[in-house]
Amino acid sequence: MTKVLVIGGRFGALTPAYTLKRLVGSKADIKLINESRYSWLRLDMPHVSIGVKDVDEWKLDLSEALPQKGIAFEEGKITKVDAKNNKVIYVKPDGSTEEEDYDYLIVGIGARLAPELIKGFDAYGYSVCEPDYAVKLRDRLRQFKGGNVTIGSGYFYQGRNPRPKVPENLAPFSDAACEGPVFEMSLMLHGYFKKMGILDKVKMTVYSPGEYLSDLSSAARKAVGEMYKQMGITLINNFKVEKITEHEVIDEKGNSIPSDLSLILPPYVGNPALKNSTPDLVDDGGFIPTDLNMVSLKYDNIYASGDANAMTVPKLAYLAVKTGRIAAEHLATRLGVPTKIETYVPAVVCIADDPLEGYGVAVHDETFYGGTRSDAVPSPTNSLKKELFVKYFMWSKGDIALEKFMGEW
Ligand SMILES: Cc1cc2nc3c(=O)[nH]c(=O)nc-3n(C[C@H](O)[C@H](O)[C@H](O)COP(=O)(O)OP(=O)(O)OC[C@H]3O[C@@H](n4cnc5c(N)ncnc54)[C@H](O)[C@@H]3O)c2cc1C
Repeated sequence: MTKVLVIGGRFGALTPAYTLKRLVGSKADIKLINESRYSWLRLDMPHVSIGVKDVDEWKLDLSEALPQKGIAFEEGKITKVDAKNNKVIYVKPDGSTEEEDYDYLIVGIGARLAPELIKGFDAYGYSVCEPDYAVKLRDRLRQFKGGNVTIGSGYFYQGRNPRPKVPENLAPFSDAACEGPVFEMSLMLHGYFKKMGILDKVKMTVYSPGEYLSDLSSAARKAVGEMYKQMGITLINNFKVEKITEHEVIDEKGNSIPSDLSLILPPYVGNPALKNSTPDLVDDGGFIPTDLNMVSLKYDNIYASGDANAMTVPKLAYLAVKTGRIAAEHLATRLGVPTKIETYVPAVVCIADDPLEGYGVAVHDETFYGGTRSDAVPSPTNSLKKELFVKYFMWSKGDIALEKFMGEW
């Protein structure tokens, strides 16, 4: 029996695992390995941080969800992909090291968000990228009585070489890996401070390592700039944060912004397990370059999906789902189930939610990839749409087959 191994436990791994199972049924054994039996939905960590959601609402138990759909699950932290010998090396929870072989491998272990690259982060930094950070920020916000608040992202250490084998416009470069959560947090905190009655005691600054929201059209960026003016938020571009102190964030040129509460979406780097893998599997940043079917340029039996794929910029769940589905469709065809393989047409699609003020901004922008569509629409229904999407994700246990037909989130 053909053995398909999927590694990872969020959009980039769950989408191809479930899709492939649906397509090939018993024609392949499918097994998924993730570093934890639990997977937390990142999209609602900002909501946890402002106290409108509880962290455990977004916890998925993969050891139950996957076997229910005929996919084997193993808990283990991958340390290396040995692409030449078709093996994955991982460490089990009891500390023992194991090997798992495969006929086909789908890599969906994402990137690493690296707060340790920002000096002073441990002492003074806050984030929302994982459950622990969201809870720590929630607790800090409960004590916060006013002052300077900064929100920004670290630099994106994107690979440059070799390039994915796709048209250049589909694999763009960016200084920030994903600024959607920064935008969302700026809206949410405005709503939060307003609700707490301390908005007049807060000075908010948003910064970017490059041009803020450079993955959106200039018209959409201008609209965000106008919004910020009305909200009293200062925007600073080209600020590559290097260090945080108790009352400042400081960039690599020594410029500083006053900051009593410093919220950072950490720098993105390649996943350490991939950097430690067979060298020609990854680019110089630790991401896997592929073709448009998500097949590795060097290893024909390895696929990369989601944030681990060098092509997905920005690092967005929408693109993780798309790349995961394409990988599964392509592999199903190779396994003898002819399947229509959709074309990779990327877009920046997300909703920045502000539940405390009852609206969200829905973004659908193709201009980063040379397209023409550019929508950024604020509306109360967008907040509901995001709520629907995350509820659907949890209800389906991460098997968001209908996303394709929902069209937009
Ligand atoms: C705070 C925040 C909010 C976001 N909001 C949105 C949004 O609203 N809309 C949107 O489109 N995108 C959003 N994103 C981006 C989105 O979360 C990511 O693009 C998406 O999660 C990528 O999915 P992935 O599965 O490829 O990678 P990841 O989400 O990084 O998942 C990787 C998985 O692999 C596991 N893993 C990692 N290393 C190993 C290892 N060595 N061994 C075993 N397992 C491992 C991890 O535990 C995890 O389960 C947000 C990101 C953040 C940080």
